[in-house]
Amino acid sequence: MLGLNQDYPLTLPTVLEHGAANYGCTEVVSFGHGETVRTDYAAIGRRARRLGSVLGQEMYGSLAWNTFRHLELFYAVSGAGAVLHTANPRLPPAQIAYTIDFAGYNTLFIDLDTLALAESLQPQLPKIETYIVMAPRDAMPATDLPNAVCYEDLIDAGDADWVWPTIDERSGAVLCFTSGTTGAPKGALYSHRGTVLNALSTGGGNGWGLSANDAILAVPGFFHCNGWQIPFFGPMYGAKLVLPGRSADTPFLHRLIIQESISVAPGVPTIWLGLLEHCRETQQDLGRLNRIFSGGSAPPAAMMEAYLRDFGIRTIHGWGMTETTAGSTMSFALDDLAKMRTQGKPLYGNEIRIVDETGKAAPRDGKTPGSLQVRGHWVAGGYFRRPDAVCQSPDGWLDTGDIAAIDPDNTLHLLDRAKDMVKSGGEWISSQALEEAALRLPSVQEAAVLAIPHPKWQERPLLVLVARPGANPTEADVITHLSQIVPKWWLPDAIVFVDALPLGPTGKLAKTELRQWLKDGRLSPYPIR
Ligand code: ADP
Repeated sequence: MLGLNQDYPLTLPTVLEHGAANYGCTEVVSFGHGETVRTDYAAIGRRARRLGSVLGQEMYGSLAWNTFRHLELFYAVSGAGAVLHTANPRLPPAQIAYTIDFAGYNTLFIDLDTLALAESLQPQLPKIETYIVMAPRDAMPATDLPNAVCYEDLIDAGDADWVWPTIDERSGAVLCFTSGTTGAPKGALYSHRGTVLNALSTGGGNGWGLSANDAILAVPGFFHCNGWQIPFFGPMYGAKLVLPGRSADTPFLHRLIIQESISVAPGVPTIWLGLLEHCRETQQDLGRLNRIFSGGSAPPAAMMEAYLRDFGIRTIHGWGMTETTAGSTMSFALDDLAKMRTQGKPLYGNEIRIVDETGKAAPRDGKTPGSLQVRGHWVAGGYFRRPDAVCQSPDGWLDTGDIAAIDPDNTLHLLDRAKDMVKSGGEWISSQALEEAALRLPSVQEAAVLAIPHPKWQERPLLVLVARPGANPTEADVITHLSQIVPKWWLPDAIVFVDALPLGPTGKLAKTELRQWLKDGRLSPYPIR
C-alpha cells in the first residue's frame, strides 16, 4: 500500500525557493574581480528564475569562481531541468579542456577571473559556440571569444515570475569531475535527490550543525564537490553566505571572517594551517568564528588542538570524495580531540564497510585495515558516459580507494589512500599517520611521506619536510621526535627538506607531483641509517 503523502520531489529549486521565501533578506556577500555585491536570497531567487526561463539546452558548463552569479547558475540550470558541469579552473589546462569537450555542451559560463583561461582554452573547445560572461554590463571585456554574451542580458531577458518545471528528483543536476590523479578525470553526475539529501544530512546537527544564525565563508571552489554543498546549505538553512571569488589569500579570508561575522568556515587543512600562522604572527583573533570544517585530507592534531585551545574553535572533521557528492562521514565532537581526529561516523543516508583483498568484510575492531567502501543516497553508482570505468563492487558498494579501520561503534579511521600506503616487509605503514607524527614537531610546517623502493623490504618511507620559517630542525631532531610516537620500523629511511610542497587543484598535497620530483631527481634522498 502506498503512503498518502503528497508527491513533493527533492529538487534543487525547492531549496532556493525555501531560502527566498523564509530568509529572503538574509545576506549573500560576493567578491570577485573588484566587484563587491551585497544581495539576498529573495533577489537570488528572482534572478535564478529569470535565467532559468531563458535556458533551453540539456547541459551547460561553468568555468568560474565563487560568486553570487555562479550561485544563481546552480539553481537556474538545474531548475530548468538541465545539468551544470562545474569545470575546475585549477586543473591542468589540458584536463579542463578534456572535461568540457567530453561533456559535449555548447554554452560555457565564465567570469572575469577565468576569462584569460577561457581565451587560452578556446582553440581546444571546438563544441563551445557561446561564452556567457558573468560580469556586470559595464565591465564586459573586449574579447576574441566567439559569441561572448553578457550574463546580465540573459537575466534581463528572463521572466521573474516563471515557474520551475516539474523535474524527476532522480534527474542529473550537477556534473563534477574527479581531479584525475589516476588517469583521465571521470565525471560524477549528481542527481537532485542525492544532492538535497546530502545537504540535509551533512548540514544537520551531527554534521555542520547549521542554522539561520550562521554565516558561512565559502572557501572550497564551487567546482569541487559542489563547493562542499555550500550553495545549497545557504538557502536550506537560511545561513548568510560570504563568497570570496577566486581568492584564498589568508589575510583576505581573515578580514572576511572578522568583517562579515563568519561563524563557520570550511576548507582543506592547508587553509587552516595558514590562518593559524597568520593569527599567531599578527596577534589577531577570529571574531565570531566558532567552528571550522576540515575535509579533503587529514587535519594535523596539533592544528585542531591549537584552534580549540587558543580560540575555542571546534574542528568538524569530515571525509568524502567527488564520488560521494560531498561529505559522507563526520566527527561530531564538542571538545574531544581524540574524536575530532577520526573521520567520524557516517551521516544518515550512507553506510561504510571495509573489505579485504578478496572482497570479504573485514572486522570492525578499530585495528584491522581494509579497503573502504560506501553506499547510500548520494554515492556514485557509475561514471558519466564511462560504462567501462566500474566503481562499484558486484554487491553495489563504491570502492573509494582508501584504506581504513572501523571501530565497533562505526567510527572511521582513514589510514591512507591505497596508493600512498608504504608496504614494508609485507606490513603497511600509513603515510598519513607518519606525516601527522612529523607535524607534531613544532619546527616542522609541512610533511609528506613517499614510498621508495627497497631491495629487502620492498618499500620504505621517505619523509619530505618543510621547516617552519626561522626554524632549523635536523634529521636527528626529527628521528628522535618520531621515535617517541611511531614504531621503530616506521622510521623513515631518508629525510629531505624542501622549500615548499606541491599542491594539487583542490589545495591538497599533490603526491603524484612529488613522486615525479623523485623520478626527475629533484628530490634526492640519501640514506640516514
Ligand atoms: P582529489 O583526488 O582531488 O583529492 P577528492 O576530493 O575526490 O579528489 O578526494 C577524495 C579523497 O581525499 C578521499 O578518497 C581521501 O583519500 C581523501 N580525504 C578526503 N577527506 C579526508 C579526510 N577527512 N581525512 C583524510 N583523507 C581525506
